[in-house]
Amino acid sequence: MKKNLLGQTGLEVTELCFGSLAMSPLQAKVSIEEGAAVIRKALDEGVNFIDTAEMYLTNPHIAQAIKDFDGEVIIATKSTATSYEDMEKSINNSLKELGRDYLDIFLLHAARGGKDIFEVRQGAYNCLKDYKDKGIIKHIGISTHSVDVVNAAILEEDIEIIFPIINMNGMGIIDGDLDDMLNAIEKARQAKKGLYAMKALAGGNLIHKLEDAIDYVRNINGMSSIAIGMINTQELDVNLRIFRNEAVPEEMKNTSKSTKKLFITNYCKGCGKCVETCPNFALSLQGNKAVVDHDKCLLCGYCNPVCPMFALRLL
Ligand code: SF4
Ligand code: SF4
Repeated sequence: MKKNLLGQTGLEVTELCFGSLAMSPLQAKVSIEEGAAVIRKALDEGVNFIDTAEMYLTNPHIAQAIKDFDGEVIIATKSTATSYEDMEKSINNSLKELGRDYLDIFLLHAARGGKDIFEVRQGAYNCLKDYKDKGIIKHIGISTHSVDVVNAAILEEDIEIIFPIINMNGMGIIDGDLDDMLNAIEKARQAKKGLYAMKALAGGNLIHKLEDAIDYVRNINGMSSIAIGMINTQELDVNLRIFRNEAVPEEMKNTSKSTKKLFITNYCKGCGKCVETCPNFALSLQGNKAVVDHDKCLLCGYCNPVCPMFALRLL
């Protein structure tokens, strides 16, 4: 599988990055054993790049997959921490759970931040820089759904990697349209930032246009890799074919993940926690109940664990 340099990091990552959110307890709830087997198969097939986050709770799946694997594995993780202390806890937690004494890539998990993101998250950002100086984190960056954040990251010398949302429909971009994000990505490329893409399939909304949707992002200048969520070996096989430029038989496409929807049950008591959490502003309160705008929902599952009433279901 083709590898690309990730900006100026010196890392060569495969075009297909194994996105671990889809198998996480936030989404498909794949067991550690089953998830580890899918990730391990991807590594055996030549994928060398895995994306995770503290909130995905997939470190155990990854740790089991990489155990005794003697090839190269580049892991990108991220944390929503704001303070120095909380980021330090996230880093130590990741080291412990992944069973490593260093972390290849650590991102500020900043889905819905604004242009002041590096001030708001200054403590966490400083912590990442300190841990890079210590050699424990090799490269630092930021993940985002925001054009403003990509533009702010371009100006930050210490940010080596940007993980922006991008897909052919422009779905999930919170403060601009597709052209705005493409322009910001091009500026980031010119600034020699390492770029890899999230939500190329818009959280499953583009699954019916799978190859076109992936090709669209693959063809963005400077996009070194694309994180695609996979929960079983059938989905992995489809994606391996696409990234190896092989034809995908129709019957294989049909085994790809089916489209889900977020439902809010009557247990909702209108506390608003999910509204505050949604990276995509897809939730609002109406008549003391949460309602979802399905045109904005990317099925990420981030809202699910914050609900005290267990009222949110991805079905
Ligand atoms: S977090 Fe749960 S209870 Fe609170 S508004 Fe959202 S769905 Fe309703
Ligand atoms: S409503 Fe929930 S599942 Fe949909 S984008 Fe927001 S946090 Fe993600």
